[in-house]
Amino acid sequence: MAAAAAAKIAEVRETTRVERIGAHSHIRGLGLDESLEARHVSQGLVGQVTARRAVGIVLQMVRDGRIAGRAVLLAGQPGTGKTALATALAAALGLDTPFTSMAGSEIYSLEMSKTEALTQAIRKSIGVRIKEETEIIEGEVVEVQIERPATGVGTKVGKLILKTTDMETVYDLGGKMIDSILKEKVQSGDVITIDKATGKITRLGRSFARARDYDATGQQTRFVQCPEGELQKGKKWCTLVWYESRINIIEFIGDTGEIKTEVREQINGKVAEWREEGKAEIIPGVLFIDEVHMLDIECFSFLNRALENEMSPIVIMATNRGITKIRGTTYKSPHGIPLDLLDRTIIIPTQPYEEKELREILSIRCEEEDCQMSDNALTVLTRISKETSLRYGMQLIMTSSLIARKRKAHEVDVEDIKRAYQLFFDEGRSVQFLREYQQEFMF
Ligand code: ATP
Repeated sequence: MAAAAAAKIAEVRETTRVERIGAHSHIRGLGLDESLEARHVSQGLVGQVTARRAVGIVLQMVRDGRIAGRAVLLAGQPGTGKTALATALAAALGLDTPFTSMAGSEIYSLEMSKTEALTQAIRKSIGVRIKEETEIIEGEVVEVQIERPATGVGTKVGKLILKTTDMETVYDLGGKMIDSILKEKVQSGDVITIDKATGKITRLGRSFARARDYDATGQQTRFVQCPEGELQKGKKWCTLVWYESRINIIEFIGDTGEIKTEVREQINGKVAEWREEGKAEIIPGVLFIDEVHMLDIECFSFLNRALENEMSPIVIMATNRGITKIRGTTYKSPHGIPLDLLDRTIIIPTQPYEEKELREILSIRCEEEDCQMSDNALTVLTRISKETSLRYGMQLIMTSSLIARKRKAHEVDVEDIKRAYQLFFDEGRSVQFLREYQQEFMF
């Protein structure tokens, strides 16, 4: 059951990007010791120790449930590891804490209002932990048989075969369970829940339509319930109502379009009921918004209000802008963020890397990308990264490795780096090239 929940949370993470070797795939955690001090090189992270220590404290606060409703801003130049730190935090939090990641610009490309996009992101970052003592089993009825005593009096007995995620269980029925099966008119094919403690059976097929749930690999894992009318053909769904698991997401995941207010209210009502009965607790997760300066004033005021909600996740923002215009206004402010939001934000600065650190990061990436590189080539690559950008340097790893392979070499050498550098422009040279040959381009 915990595994099913873990698969679900993993899927939330999947919603952003699927890359085979992602830009941050070498990062496995924050690389901190027991006293939350950053080890210089650990879990794929190099240097940036002050920021890592600060993120470590945020991690502790999230774990203690003491940071809901606050915002953190990672601020620093491009390529100083802001996204890397957020990724590391997600890894350190583990699968038990929901983590959603989005880029500020994404909200403009979705076919829904900006505030709806933000609401969805916020709600995906909140988990509901169902306490185990009120374990509820959910499954599809394969068969139900009830034997009435021949005389018409006496105790009824029966059998129920229930199919859950990966197995079928046979229940011998008696007393209360039979009463609720008859009351609910349970038949084969229905989806029901059984409260383990009380034996109460509830049929879910009425106010909920059935959908299939898929894990991150696209495998069907189980049936889930979606509020009726909200099912859309061909869409992947999952829902908050994970009766039998310990962790529940309170927002639909996948390509769902706008979600109706009534549906959300229904969900909130259910969660509130569970909390009141002591069956569930809220786990505020993390919402990471990269390029936060791309949000506009409407989004910022929405965020500001959303942070006041008791069910708010911790919002971690990242930006590489200094004093800049707040989108949608003519006013400037630090990082393009309105002052009232900045006021409730903890700012963690990131610093540019020293050459030695760049070399270490590049070397970790070479390993990640299965690329053998000579010491001299790594020195040249480090120099290039320092002059251009770390990201550009990282891109040269794969390109130079393909060039080396073409000449049947097992190791990338200085010549391969040089060749890749000539073939692929970094941003600076590309701009220069455009300026020089402006006439030839039709804009
Ligand atoms: P931008 O402002 O342009 O979005 P950023 O600060 O978010 O940049 P990242 O994308 O995190 O920068 O870093 C660029 C690349 O360098 C990524 O592949 C990232 O994983 C890697 N990286 C950055 N800092 C570190 C670090 N301290 N240790 C290991 N890898 C790092």
